[in-house]
Amino acid sequence: MHADEDAPQRALVQLLQSWRQAGLTHWTSVPPLVVEQPVPIPAAANIPRSRSPQQAPADMPRGKSPSKESAAAGLALDPSRCQTFQPLDLPAGERPAKLAEWKDRVAQCVRCQELASSRKQTVFGVGDPNAKLLFIGEAPGADEDAQGEPFVGRAGQLLNDIIKACKLRREDVYICNILRCRPPGNRVPALEEAENCREYLDAQIGIVNPDYIVCWGSTAAKNLLGSEDTIGKLRGKIFHYGRAKVVCTYHPSYLLRNPPAKKDVWDDMKFLFKDMGIDLTAK
Ligand code: URA
Repeated sequence: MHADEDAPQRALVQLLQSWRQAGLTHWTSVPPLVVEQPVPIPAAANIPRSRSPQQAPADMPRGKSPSKESAAAGLALDPSRCQTFQPLDLPAGERPAKLAEWKDRVAQCVRCQELASSRKQTVFGVGDPNAKLLFIGEAPGADEDAQGEPFVGRAGQLLNDIIKACKLRREDVYICNILRCRPPGNRVPALEEAENCREYLDAQIGIVNPDYIVCWGSTAAKNLLGSEDTIGKLRGKIFHYGRAKVVCTYHPSYLLRNPPAKKDVWDDMKFLFKDMGIDLTAK
């Protein structure tokens, strides 16, 4: 009798399938978040180098459709699995063209089959390619899907008000999302979708090279920082992503449902701007 050479492989596949059925979709080996210390992005050893638009097979389906478990659980993305961040330090004049190159590339993207087949268009990002402040939201909604621009619906109006209260104009910041396609029914982005889109987010951050990043809501915070903590726990602290300082606050959509939390967001803005050397309470 021949030994069944495939038996160990089959057993391993069965074991993995049983873990998946039990809800385990990935291992998280998130490095501890460091507060108030400049942390360079981890060495290239565990981060794939940024791929140029020419090299990356972005328009190939990756066969990763969202598992129900990861979408429902809103699991934090493990940045070491898919992070491609590299600060590019491009001359200011080259940033608009680089962003336009990635925008075109994103428009062709079919990495997430469900999103690619249900979107009206991709929603890349908008704002100053040389902004000192970069905002990250969750994902386009119906208005953004229709107009091709992030934060143009009700949550966007509120975000505009917050920007104005901070004595800035919308054009002064750069605004993007964890995802560049609308999830059907505005569901929370699945882990696999965030992973698929991470290369684009990292490219945008690398090109704009902001001094500060604001994560609006827990999807942005979880995915950028790889943290499972709630916004309540992440607020009032400074994290680092590459050379950028990162603060986390509530999503404008949450504020629409829970107006008393606007005060917390205003406190977070004062905290952020104080770190920038700006007193928002000054007349
Ligand atoms: N909510 C987001 O997180 N992003 C948008 O672009 C719109 C609403």
